[in-house]
Amino acid sequence: MSNEIMKGVLYVVATPIGNLSDLSERAKKVLSEVDFIAAEDTRVTGKLLMCIGTKKPLISYHEHNKREKGEEIIKRIKDGESCAIVSDAGTPAISDPGEDLVRLCAEDNIPVYAIPGPCAVISALSISGLPTGRFSFEGFLSTNKGERKRHLEEVKASPYTLIFYEAPHKLRDALSAMLDVLGDRRISLVRELTKINEEVFRTTLSGAVSHYAENNPKGEFVLVLEGAKKEETEVFWESMDEREHVEYYMAQGMEKMDAIKATAKDRGVAKSVIYKKVL
Ligand code: SAM
Repeated sequence: MSNEIMKGVLYVVATPIGNLSDLSERAKKVLSEVDFIAAEDTRVTGKLLMCIGTKKPLISYHEHNKREKGEEIIKRIKDGESCAIVSDAGTPAISDPGEDLVRLCAEDNIPVYAIPGPCAVISALSISGLPTGRFSFEGFLSTNKGERKRHLEEVKASPYTLIFYEAPHKLRDALSAMLDVLGDRRISLVRELTKINEEVFRTTLSGAVSHYAENNPKGEFVLVLEGAKKEETEVFWESMDEREHVEYYMAQGMEKMDAIKATAKDRGVAKSVIYKKVL
């Protein structure tokens, strides 16, 4: 596609996650030539624009004003202006504001163009040393204990590499919860990408928990975890009928009623269903 800046469109512009040299030529051109920029934090973006020697009208667009500002931005684009959206760092709409604005544009048939560049999840995965073929990006874990546990339970059986964003002050709790729910598995803790203290710590969840019991977590983290091993994702009773399933548990030493209960739980059916089958 042409590098000429078009009117009546939205550009989703990735910005550096640490190293200013990662701002692409195309991103610089778009930021210098659009009519206005929707920015997560206008001070942060103001500084970035100063570094590339340009000034632009900025409009604040973040989690708490996205409804009213979204409508205003859409109206201006429909009136023929060109707009770039940027977040504080990385790719907008990826655990950052932008998703809603892109959806609004799509609903209004407004063209949206990606100006690709830095994104912590992809950079971390690429240097993690873990399988990259299939992965699941999980964003941030909740700080609420129950929600965090539910989120981890949901992905526990996934055979794909799991990727989480995490802030340093929440890292210890996150690692302990992961070890509790997911069990011990390989993890790459990717820290401070593209900055002076960039580091990849390839270890296990238990290794990471002990390391950070002694060391203070510092900087921004991406946690890349190995998916569940094949045997963990296989349902051991898949080839058994209900009777064999109950007998399996009884052979492990369970009383018949407990074995029926466990079988029903595995199969997600009522106890009475299994009871009738094994009578
Ligand atoms: N949209 C951004 C992107 O494309 O990477 C992500 C924004 S999200 C609000 C911020 C999180 O991204 C941080 O808490 C951290 O987990 C991760 N992150 C951002 N910059 C990073 C860096 N330089 N090194 C490691 N992780 C980073």
